[in-house]
Amino acid sequence: MTHRPASTTSRSMPASDTLMRRARAVIPGGVNSPVRAFGAVGGTPPFIDAAKGAWLTDVDGNRYVDLICSWGPMILGHAHPLVEQAVQEAARKGFSFGAPSANEVALAEELVARVAPVEQVRLVSSGTEATMSALRLARGATGRDKVVKFAGCYHGHVDALLASAGSGVATFGLPDSAGVPASSAHETIVLPYNDLDAVRQAFAQHGSEIACVITEASPGNMGVVPPTPGFTAGLREITRAHGALLISDEVMTGFRCSAAGWYGLEGEQGGSAPDLFTFGKVMGGGFPAAAFGGRADLMAQLAPEGPVYQAGTLSGNPVATAAGLANLRGCTPEVYARLDVVSHAIADAASEQLTLAGVPHVVQWAGSMFSVFFRGEPVRCYDDAKDQDLAAFSRFFHAMLRQGVHLPPSAFEVWFVSAAHDDEAVNAVIDALPGAARAVTDSDGTLPA
Ligand SMILES: *Cc1c(COP(=O)(O)O)cnc(C)c1O
Repeated sequence: MTHRPASTTSRSMPASDTLMRRARAVIPGGVNSPVRAFGAVGGTPPFIDAAKGAWLTDVDGNRYVDLICSWGPMILGHAHPLVEQAVQEAARKGFSFGAPSANEVALAEELVARVAPVEQVRLVSSGTEATMSALRLARGATGRDKVVKFAGCYHGHVDALLASAGSGVATFGLPDSAGVPASSAHETIVLPYNDLDAVRQAFAQHGSEIACVITEASPGNMGVVPPTPGFTAGLREITRAHGALLISDEVMTGFRCSAAGWYGLEGEQGGSAPDLFTFGKVMGGGFPAAAFGGRADLMAQLAPEGPVYQAGTLSGNPVATAAGLANLRGCTPEVYARLDVVSHAIADAASEQLTLAGVPHVVQWAGSMFSVFFRGEPVRCYDDAKDQDLAAFSRFFHAMLRQGVHLPPSAFEVWFVSAAHDDEAVNAVIDALPGAARAVTDSDGTLPA
């Protein structure tokens, strides 16, 4: 397959520009999730008309290799025939029943079979709902109110988890968003990631009030910042010693880092597994399906069996669960092997070109999940991640976009690949990299002729 030489001119986007104007009139900022607005990189986002395999087509007919993959779910590529068929078959039988259905059971069985410590799951419709519900369950089960989270970890837009670190270690969180009550953020203790001393200190001060520690299994929402050896084990030991629960948020890593998510790579830590897990993204196959789960005795605290209330009109939706099940069943060993090949091919080429152009950067990994930080030093926590050259990333991003490669529009995100990224798609990325790397050091950010 030959690849068309990359264009060095701006892409023509009149239809996207028009849609953005219309969108801004009726949708705040023109988007239904903030990062899509390109706030961090500037410019107008292409509006996507269709997606197939590794490729996006925008409403002006421009094509892009997709390195967002819907922020993770499209692990098999867009509109994979297996998932498409499952969705069509399910939709033909009705869209939502408000009563139990077989697909819910099959999806729950699939999740339980994949992640050993998860004995039961409750299905919900988004990752936010999963972490919100897991938090309520942890508080209900322990009779405690405080939660520990780590700066730079994102768990959806749950009030208690939209808190930033106050100054100093082991201070209570401050609201990270208008509309989050100070009282809610006050129940959250925000600590630096990969810092067990900070965790020990917080538990020394407030141990008997802490319901749980919630952590991204391997953080991806500040870019990829894997736990340092012993960190997860330390969390397990400290929480157990104080009667608090450990919640591993695998909404991003689940079924992407391995068939059993990050847990499949790291396994039991400190002699036992996390108490609760949250899942989303890949397990929905691009549809709204997510879950939280864990030990059966804990899950029995949920209504209708127990006192912790949790519900959802569309929870376990038959079409979403069919999509999720097909997506997971499509995740064969060959798929994971291909993700490894694709991610390394792209990351190695990016690193090589940035090095040639003299751009300080570091690539970090969690399984086949990777991101590129525009700084020379390794990133171990959010303060490190923030200390990168964001303007350099913006120039790089736009140079890639002009050449038909759609990176996540933020320097704090994973570059998501799929098993549908074939050699044509990978080569299109590799061909775009030299110009984009040079554009970083070009003061006006345009591609050199
Ligand atoms: C995406 C994400 C969420 C939120 O999921 P939504 O479906 O967007 O609500 C929660 N936790 C992690 C780790 C995520 O990556």
